[in-house]
Amino acid sequence: MICHVMRQIHLDLPDRSNNLNNSEADRRAGDRWFAPGGRYGAVALQIRHPGNGSPPTAARAGATAFVRSAFTLPELLVVIGIIAILIALLLPALSKARSSGQAVSCLSNLRQIMMGFHVYAADNKQRLPDPAATEQSWESLLRPYLRAREAYHCASDGGLFDNLRSSYDWRDTPDAATTVAGKLLIEIRRPDAVFVFDALPEWHGKGKINSAQADGSAQTMGYQDCLKDLDRPVNAP
Ligand SMILES: [Zn+2]
Repeated sequence: MICHVMRQIHLDLPDRSNNLNNSEADRRAGDRWFAPGGRYGAVALQIRHPGNGSPPTAARAGATAFVRSAFTLPELLVVIGIIAILIALLLPALSKARSSGQAVSCLSNLRQIMMGFHVYAADNKQRLPDPAATEQSWESLLRPYLRAREAYHCASDGGLFDNLRSSYDWRDTPDAATTVAGKLLIEIRRPDAVFVFDALPEWHGKGKINSAQADGSAQTMGYQDCLKDLDRPVNAP
């Protein structure tokens, strides 16, 4: 890394009476200019000429290489102000992009979970998990088919996953007409029936909830619409 060190080289040149003219002084000054100090960055070259007050040509050329590296206070305040305005403009957009990314990730999880349910049913004579009969949670029953721990984790979940190891709930209702727990796949006649969903609403917007349907699709829907669907029987189209 080039270190910007300002160096001043003072050359005491002999007077004109020493048979050393300006050209010779310039040459020597040039030699000093490219000497070791050059690799450290800008060098301010100042030649003090005892004969007359005006510096030789090389000294003037060296002086043009002088690089001012400091900001004045007003300049610094303007830069800080511009940075603050840019941050204020960008933050809402970044927050929205982050929120959208989390919602997309959640919908992907829900589709994977639905696939897990279908593979489980394929291995169990088309019957869906029955936590009450097996005394295991639906997440545990799906684990052999969906091993990725993060598949049960909604990125917008603020703490449920940390305690329960799952951000989601499924259609295991107490009503035999509306539940899917322990049912045969063929008994679910509504392909749009809500099947698995965020355990809590509003992780992806006010009044919204992410859910996956019996046909394997996933969507962000109104929380009230989700509750209404859970009250509808699944065996009637
Ligand atoms: Zn979610």
